[in-house]
Amino acid sequence: MKYKNYPMVSRIIFGRGSFNQLSDIISPKRLNVKAPFIFLVDDVFKGNSWMTSRIPLSYADQLIYVSANEEPKTSQVDELVEQIIVSHKDRPSGIIGIGGGTILDLAKAVSIMITNKGEAKDYQGWDLVKNPAIFHVGVPTISGTGAEVSRTTVLTGPDKKLGINSDYTPFDQVILDPELTKDVPKDQWFYTGMDCYIHCIESLNGTYLNAFSKSYGEKAYELCTEIFVNGNLSDQDSQDKLMMASWHGGMSIAYSQVGVAHAMSYGLSYLLGTKHGIGNCIVFDHLEEFYPEGVKLFKQMKANHQISLPQGICADLDDSQFDIMIDVALGLEPLWENAIGKKWKQVITRDKLKALYQKM
Ligand code: NAD
Ligand code: ZN
Repeated sequence: MKYKNYPMVSRIIFGRGSFNQLSDIISPKRLNVKAPFIFLVDDVFKGNSWMTSRIPLSYADQLIYVSANEEPKTSQVDELVEQIIVSHKDRPSGIIGIGGGTILDLAKAVSIMITNKGEAKDYQGWDLVKNPAIFHVGVPTISGTGAEVSRTTVLTGPDKKLGINSDYTPFDQVILDPELTKDVPKDQWFYTGMDCYIHCIESLNGTYLNAFSKSYGEKAYELCTEIFVNGNLSDQDSQDKLMMASWHGGMSIAYSQVGVAHAMSYGLSYLLGTKHGIGNCIVFDHLEEFYPEGVKLFKQMKANHQISLPQGICADLDDSQFDIMIDVALGLEPLWENAIGKKWKQVITRDKLKALYQKM
């Protein structure tokens, strides 16, 4: 048995209003006045002065608004890197991502691609990155994915949806300010929050489980149930707790793995562009067979918050399209091995996955 030696986020600040300390935190990291900080900001904040007036721009610093309507693509990373390189004489002092999982993943990937040759697609996989990334900071504005703590950045490339998993991927600095999540729309709060809940269920019920993952997974699960059974999105206590649940959920899967919902949701995302949070919910709703207790509570939480999920998204698909989704899902071998065990191929057949997708 060879144990993995993981890097972690080096610095973290937590608290309502801690975003105000951004300038103090990054100033010492400025290399020189020509080496800018690049702020990648979710375009949902365009015109929102409560947020943008606190972004500390000076010298040649640049703010780039990025849409989170679609999940990040390798080509989008390459374009951003190009845009940054042609606009500045010096290599940037750092990249600061402000947004949800989409923006955080883009910030991580851009910081890697500034110092590594070639295209982002060349680095999709495990431990392919050669040079350390530049200084990168993550500021989540919605809680659940765990992207703020993870060692991956999930990207859709020309031929696969796969992360850049590397020791250089984790942020150097994370700012956890739960107040930044106060205006998240209710449906999105639920979908991204459930990403965290599903991380816990898949980690805690997986064959890769160990005391490290269990300790984080149990805490995140406990927080999720407090938030989604008894709390709601507008109470500050729930906002604080969900931000910590996301962190713990991410820590839990760092040392274990996700499972069936994530494998199948990647298929939906690859073919139909279904986003991660809602895609996981659509799949998880049909996984009683694998996670009976988890799915039961999920349905209860869904009802509590009057969330209705899209139905029939696979109704008009043909066989070749089902095959594409099934290929993507089956390609994620560690997820199946974690969920089912070493002999998962005896249980998870193409027909079985097709029957499940047909229900969605
Ligand atoms: P997101 O970043 O896609 O954002 C969802 C929506 O919420 C967007 O419309 C966005 O504009 C909006 N939003 C974000 N913050 C807001 C705020 N404060 N107020 C109002 N609206 C706000 O959502 P997500 O669920 O956080 O991220 C999904 C992405 O994360 C996917 O691309 C997925 O692949 C990735 N992901 C990465 C990891 C990882 O470990 N790297 C893990 C899980 C998911
Ligand atoms: Zn997830």
